[in-house]
Amino acid sequence: MSGTIRVPPAVNEPVHSYAPGTPERAELKAALRAIADQDADIPVIIGGEEIRTGRTHPIRAPHDHGLRLGVWHEAGAEEARRAIANTLEARREWASWPWEDRAAVFLRAAELLSTSWRSTLNAATMLNQSKNAFQAEIDSACEIIDFFRFGVQFAQGIFDHQPVSEKGVWNRIEYRPLEGFVYAVSPFNFTAIGANLAGTPAMVGCGVLWKPSKHAVLSGYYTYRLLEEAGLPPGVINFVPGDPVAITAAAMDHPDFAGLHFTGSTSVFQSLWTTVGRNIARYRTYPRLVGETGGKDFIVAHPSADPAALRTAIVRGSFEYQGQKCSAASRAYIPASVWREIGDDLVDETDALAMGDPMDFRNFVNAVIDEGGFDSITGYIDRAAASPDAEVIAGGRYSAADGFFIRPTLVRAKRPDHETMCDEIFGPVMSVHVYPDNAWSETLDVVDSTSPYALTGAVFSQERAGLREALDRLRNAAGNFYVNDKPTGAVVGQQPFGGARASGTNDKAGSAYNIMRWLSPRTIKENLVPPRSVAYPFMGEE
Ligand code: NAD
Repeated sequence: MSGTIRVPPAVNEPVHSYAPGTPERAELKAALRAIADQDADIPVIIGGEEIRTGRTHPIRAPHDHGLRLGVWHEAGAEEARRAIANTLEARREWASWPWEDRAAVFLRAAELLSTSWRSTLNAATMLNQSKNAFQAEIDSACEIIDFFRFGVQFAQGIFDHQPVSEKGVWNRIEYRPLEGFVYAVSPFNFTAIGANLAGTPAMVGCGVLWKPSKHAVLSGYYTYRLLEEAGLPPGVINFVPGDPVAITAAAMDHPDFAGLHFTGSTSVFQSLWTTVGRNIARYRTYPRLVGETGGKDFIVAHPSADPAALRTAIVRGSFEYQGQKCSAASRAYIPASVWREIGDDLVDETDALAMGDPMDFRNFVNAVIDEGGFDSITGYIDRAAASPDAEVIAGGRYSAADGFFIRPTLVRAKRPDHETMCDEIFGPVMSVHVYPDNAWSETLDVVDSTSPYALTGAVFSQERAGLREALDRLRNAAGNFYVNDKPTGAVVGQQPFGGARASGTNDKAGSAYNIMRWLSPRTIKENLVPPRSVAYPFMGEE
């Protein structure tokens, strides 16, 4: 077989509106009904085989304690070990597939998700993780499709990189999938992150053990089924929801552990890295560690900021998906003159946001993920309300009676080191510090030094000099930096995503940099005319 095969050029998946009267809205409502009415019984999946361990957990919608979506079966150490052995076996054949066949599986998955699977995955995400229709659409439909379509294009770009060859020699690089298996550990907040963490290493030929978050098992299960329908062979990705500690121990004790693809909190990533360090001598290869973790994402406004644009960015950037995005804005620095212009409107607009069940499409915000999150977030609100250094100026009310609902909350922090300005709260709480107009440079230093994280950040300024200074002084404060825009909503292929410092390894999800981490190049030098004697010309007689 010969021919230079090219994958089709990737374009971002158009976002459906779900406006009243659109066909996608009717289809999504039907899918929501179907998933709400079913009683799913989600197995562990190893080598394509469904395993029901009997250790089950109910799946409840975060916004409606009475809505049970089914149960999932928990994997433990034994299932994890079985899954690893099976993945290693499946990888052998998968890695030997021609690239275009592996690419075709992911291109087909993207196409299926763009059409027949779209409403199912969106509805599962809306109910499982409490997202509104638009937030689900940009996550479980568009971002997954983009990860797969751009992923194959980026991989092809990597394969195209080849060394030079001098006369008589042919040099080439073969991009081998990692030897061993990749352990993918995904968070609750984006269905697309699970698809990327498991899917991207698999796309380039790795075998993957995928442990989804216990709060996203339903949407993760449908993601797995989508890939299966697209032609992913059994065992290439094994789906093992379950006990994180036992599964991690089984994975990280294994000599064939070759990589960690993690997204979640900083403390968990640090504990996993520590385990890898302790075990380093037992691995056959140095494992690749890729982790995208927490954030304390900022918006900083210059006195020249456009007030309406700033206000809109604060509301959207802080409260969409209840602030449960790693990129969500959660601290803002606003000059006194601009605050006088926007403060009252910002409070009114925040208090006017509709909150409730995602099945009711009029709601902008829905519930937070679980009781632990609810207690932690409301703890910050209560402490701010009681503190002489802070004032709750919008929202601040909450109830877990029907679901885990917390009103979008604005805290005005008198001190820039108040805890709401420093900690990742991971909920609908935006903390605002108002600074004197003449303290722009000092404020930029405060932004840079306040938090250990460096994920996303935004500057609002209509004056170029102010903007320039922010870009310089905040160079290391965010891996995704926005100018006159909210700091959320990165799009695959457009804004490769990730941050440094305590926010992660900054391997940029949705880019060739990330894909490269799952490949181990082999350089091949072929001498077309090998030398046949030892002596070099300089050794000859004068
Ligand atoms: P989490 O850390 O609680 O869980 C993430 C994953 O780690 C889950 O699969 C969980 O089961 C697993 N886990 C938990 N404890 C573990 C342990 N002891 N050993 C092994 N695995 C363990 O995070 P979450 O609540 O699901 O997600 C929210 C966090 O994720 C926030 O901190 C957020 O900033 C971060 N996040 C970061 C990005 C990014 O790109 N930087 C994206 C999304 C989320």
